[in-house]
Parts: sequence; C-alpha cells; structure tokens
Amino acid sequence: MRSRPTRTAVAAALAATALAACSPLRPAHEAHSDAPSTRTPSATASAGTPTPTASAGGNASAPLHGLVVVVDPGHNGGNGRHESEIDRPVDAGGLRKPCNTTGTQTDSGYPEHAFTWDVAKRLTALLHHDGATVVLTRHDDHGVGPCVDVRGRMAARYHADLLVSIHGDGSAETAHGFTVLRPGKVAGYTTGTYRRSDVLAADVAEAMVSHGFRRSTYLGSHGVEVRRDLGTLNLASVPAVMLEAGNMRNPTDARTLSSTGGRQRIAVALAGAVAAFEHRE
Ligand SMILES: [Zn+2]
Repeated sequence: MRSRPTRTAVAAALAATALAACSPLRPAHEAHSDAPSTRTPSATASAGTPTPTASAGGNASAPLHGLVVVVDPGHNGGNGRHESEIDRPVDAGGLRKPCNTTGTQTDSGYPEHAFTWDVAKRLTALLHHDGATVVLTRHDDHGVGPCVDVRGRMAARYHADLLVSIHGDGSAETAHGFTVLRPGKVAGYTTGTYRRSDVLAADVAEAMVSHGFRRSTYLGSHGVEVRRDLGTLNLASVPAVMLEAGNMRNPTDARTLSSTGGRQRIAVALAGAVAAFEHRE
C-alpha cells in the first residue's frame, strides 16, 4: 500500500477552503448524456458557495485508513432556479462546458440531484466505516453548483487518491442498466491517470454486477463508456469515474433508484469497488 499525504495535509487544505469561503465558488455540473436536462424549480440558493466537507472515519487499523476519496453527488437541488449561473461556460479540460446542469428525474418526479445526494451520504458512511477520509463536493441538496471544474479539481486540492461521481441517466424509456463513464486520454489532463481510471471503472462495473445490477443496454461496452468531454473527470488529476447508476426514465431502473434498498445497494457496490481498487495499488 503506497504512502499518502497525511490527514494533516487534508486538514490544512480544509482550513484553506474555510478561509476562501468568501470567494464564491459558483454552481454546478455538466450534461453527461444526450438527455435533455429537466429544469425543476427548486430550493433556496445559498448563492453557490459550497464549502466541501471532508471527514475521516475509522481508526488506524481500518482497511482504508489514510485513503482520501472525493465523492461527487451530481447536480444540486438549487440549480434549476439559477440557470444563468449554471449555464455559464467553464473549463472542462480542453473544452468549455456549462458550469453545471439540473439533471434528470424519474417520470414520477424523483430528481437526480436527490438520488445522487442520498447515495453519496450512504457511500460516505460506508467509507468512513472502513477508515477512509471522504471529501464531498457539496454539503447539502439545496444549493447551487459547484461547477464541474471545481468538482474535478477538488481531488488535487484535497490530495485525494481517487474520485467517484454519482449520477442517474435520463434516456429513452426502453433503455436500462448502469454505465460507468471513465476518461479517455486527453493530452495535458488525463495522460497520467486514464489507464488507472480504466481499472477503477472495471472495478465499479464488476461490483455493480455482483450486487445485482445489469450493464447498460444502450451506452458504452459492457457497462463502461470512454468520455473525453466531462470536466469532472478530465480535471480530477487522479483516477476518476462517473457512475450512471441507471436510466431514471426506465420504469424498472426508476423503481430501483427510487428505493432506499436500491440506493443502499449502489452505495455498497461503490464502497466495494473503492476497496478493490485500493487493494490493487
Ligand atoms: Zn447527472
């Protein structure tokens, strides 16, 4: 197991963030599929000054002690009421993309941002139990943002070992299954990490299958798709993947993603994948 920056380094980065909290980190995320984003009116805006939260769990003998994981719950509940903020272009790693999007929702109205937030909290609890330090890219589900570039760059800022971004897709009703998006080789951005991201993606896909989820019928190959246009992944500077846990527009997937049991299974699968990946290193 490789040596890592100590918790002290993470704590120092957090302190720096607290000091920088007056400078607005603006809202939020990118279109990661062809699906139209749904603009759901929502929430009070805290004007997008998300202070990332990092927290450590477990003790020195816990299996993931010392590991730092950025957990990125896609979108945010306040994005829909702040279109001009989330539409503004930001650096996405060799291209410009909107700061963030509102995400999709199930036909019955369960929004993606709520889904990703719930899974992120469950995953955080599991990683803490195993001793990892978790950096969440947002600290609640009613704010705006942060933008995709901010999300991706948090990995370097907090000396993370890897980044896992959580999403639900919005595609044709008949399409179903999960897809793990991983970065391709993007010169100047992912050259040093894309191969390890490929390994992490395979670990996530395998863990999802072993927890009863089916690979996508409509994206990528065997549940994994290579992308070069996602700022969160391009800017992470560490192994990074984005899980589209299912198609929220498909009735069967929507039932799973809307259930607490389904979300817990996704979190357990992701925690298992993080552990599997870490044990390779
Ligand atoms: Zn999304």
